[in-house]
Amino acid sequence: MITLALSKGRIFDETLPLLRSAGIEVLDDPEKTRKLILATNRPEVRVVLVRATDVPTYVQYGGADLGITGLDTLIEHGNEGLYQPLDLRIAQCRVSVAVREGYDYAAAVRQGARLRVATKYVTIARDFFAAKGVHVDLIKLYGSMELAPLTGLADAIVDLVSTGNTLKANNLVEVERIMDISARLVVNQAALKLKREPLRHIVDAFGRALETTA
Ligand code: AMP
Repeated sequence: MITLALSKGRIFDETLPLLRSAGIEVLDDPEKTRKLILATNRPEVRVVLVRATDVPTYVQYGGADLGITGLDTLIEHGNEGLYQPLDLRIAQCRVSVAVREGYDYAAAVRQGARLRVATKYVTIARDFFAAKGVHVDLIKLYGSMELAPLTGLADAIVDLVSTGNTLKANNLVEVERIMDISARLVVNQAALKLKREPLRHIVDAFGRALETTA
């Protein structure tokens, strides 16, 4: 049995065409079922639905043989036990620093002030500001980061940005782009040895599908 870990929403939707190219059709719609294990047209392949941030954990410990997750989630989780063969170029966005409109970020950074930064992405934020030599106090949040600069909880946030509409709607401005993000295919290293042939088939089919859309 091959188990693929996916999260609902954008990653699931954008993965379906890739699965199709590997001859795999998911038989249930995750928006219409409460099932967490979804069958496919291939009896030896199943999909498990997990939270996006849990995908690397499932794959690392062998609860799934492979999974698809954002580079942001992978960096925060760490790469241990995971083989990362493909950039799937789906679910693209960026990680950026944003502040309240009118906040003089450049001056705060120049003056060597300690910046209070709220984020879910503490590893990415810590590494970025350390490389710039900017002192930061990081405040870990789990969501609605846009609120932090508006309520005085933080001077800045580090968050995912796609169109920029969420920032704009909350009177925030993007002041630095930290890195581009896309979804990655990750494979359990032990499974790659034990189930080499069926996993290779899926990885290669994904790779070929990407080449034709390049
Ligand atoms: P936008 O308004 O299009 O800039 O989207 C920003 C919001 O969507 C933020 O709350 C992000 O956390 C979320 N977001 C954008 N792109 C992604 C992605 N690829 N994966 C997960 N969340 C995302």
